[in-house]
Amino acid sequence: MKVALIKGDGVGPEVTEQALKVLDAISKRFKCRFEYREALLGGSAIDETGVPLPDETVDICTRSDAVLLGAVGGPKWDILPGNLRPEAGLLGIRKALKVFANLRPVMLFPQLKSASPLKEEVLAGGFDIMIIRELTGGAYFGEKKRVETADGIKAWDVTAYTSHEIERIARIAFCVARKRRKRITIVDKANVLESSRLWREVTGSIMKDYADVETTYMYADNAAMQLVRNPGQFDVILTENLFGDILSDEASMLAGSLGMLPSASLGASKVRMFEPIHGSAPDIAGKDIANPLAAILSCGMMLKYGFGMEKESNAVLEAVNNVLDRGYRTADIMQPGMTLVGTEKMGSIVAEEILV
Ligand code: NAD
Repeated sequence: MKVALIKGDGVGPEVTEQALKVLDAISKRFKCRFEYREALLGGSAIDETGVPLPDETVDICTRSDAVLLGAVGGPKWDILPGNLRPEAGLLGIRKALKVFANLRPVMLFPQLKSASPLKEEVLAGGFDIMIIRELTGGAYFGEKKRVETADGIKAWDVTAYTSHEIERIARIAFCVARKRRKRITIVDKANVLESSRLWREVTGSIMKDYADVETTYMYADNAAMQLVRNPGQFDVILTENLFGDILSDEASMLAGSLGMLPSASLGASKVRMFEPIHGSAPDIAGKDIANPLAAILSCGMMLKYGFGMEKESNAVLEAVNNVLDRGYRTADIMQPGMTLVGTEKMGSIVAEEILV
């Protein structure tokens, strides 16, 4: 399997190194081979080539079987104009790979209950949510403009979706729900947004093809509240780009830390992208304290959704579970009585666990 490796900026390279240790262990145990091709994206690409997404990176990624990404961005590049910032590279590679569906599983590892900010009684039943976020449309990709007006500068970002963009991700979401607990909540603001009303029309029109899936709609503000009130009520959440970005970060805290959450991005091409949902965390970069489990679990998703290697993927999840059972914690999920370890050590322990 050819993997395009984008380590990125900030903690990106640190956590990706740990994910590679785990993939090496998977190679040894299951006798499979991964071939890595490194590519530049974001800040490191700007420093070396002057642009956040060099053509060579697009070439390497499109010729690979999967892309594994750390994270990009940082204050060093914040002064650049929007189209030259690291985030533009990220949006660009998602567009180039035509990945429009971002799958973000948010589950509570029982060992981390006390790291979650929610009360014990809210967490009693646990939760296992799959957030499916649309990734290449909406306000992040719509027309952006600034004009001078009599009232000062006016700026806008257009939230636009076509029925085709909605239908293709909705069909993925319904299929994912079918393989889970067969419940889907479509999150929008149909009370105020025309684009949300189109989401309702399109999803309503294909719902009959998935009659075995129970579908409900929820406004985004209510969903934000319900996630902390009763996260166990959700199975699959389907939503557009901006709401998905915000709600999945909120949901991540329920699981204890951003450092625990992986993601997979799928779409129209065979190449899929796998990355932790966290950013480059410049505040903790280079200190060996970042949690590498999100990057490691992203490898687990790559094995399952990228290569169809279910048992290898389960081995990664099981290793993470066992390491948490044995009491190892990075600083972000540290609890009294547990053993504090750094980024490097956590990566090594998970890799060793796979080979036990
Ligand atoms: P962030 O996710 O980098 O950090 C938010 C908070 O979570 C910070 O306090 C950070 O220390 C903590 N955190 C993040 N990852 C962690 C980990 N693995 N272990 C422990 N703690 C962790 O978000 P931000 O601070 O808003 O953004 C920083 C930079 O990252 C910005 O330039 C932003 O644009 C970029 N960003 C990139 C991506 C991506 O590459 N996919 C995603 C989000 C943000």
